[in-house]
Amino acid sequence: MSKPPHPQPGHMNREAISQLRRVNLRPTRQRIAIFVWLFRSSQSQHVTAEGLHRKLSQQHTALSIATVYNTLNTFVEYGLLKKIYLNSDTAFYDTNTEPHHHIVIGDPLEIRDIPVEAIALASQPQLPEGLQLRSVDVILKADRRS
Ligand SMILES: [Zn+2]
Repeated sequence: MSKPPHPQPGHMNREAISQLRRVNLRPTRQRIAIFVWLFRSSQSQHVTAEGLHRKLSQQHTALSIATVYNTLNTFVEYGLLKKIYLNSDTAFYDTNTEPHHHIVIGDPLEIRDIPVEAIALASQPQLPEGLQLRSVDVILKADRRS
């Protein structure tokens, strides 16, 4: 697997600090480390708390799983990430906060973005009285051909 070109660490940290301040989050060491990992490339990332914890440990950034989990949820709360529930056990954190859909590919599990305009819904159910549609999130599921 090829690695993306490594950006200058100092520059990435400055960018992280300014983005965290922009949304009124104090730029702690933990938040900066997680922000830099998530937004190091222009491609959108979809990570679980466990997966991110593992990857940060591999690059010798020692953060507890609880810290990773709390930081990801704080980023969701402040609009830096979107949370996608695959099922009741698995939540993915998405760096792409614009409206879009997903394709989930099994074994090894992988999630890719699908642009919103790539899927057209022919009809939608009438919502009950008093409800307002917030979003339509389509998840396609696919298996790799063997
Ligand atoms: Zn996505």
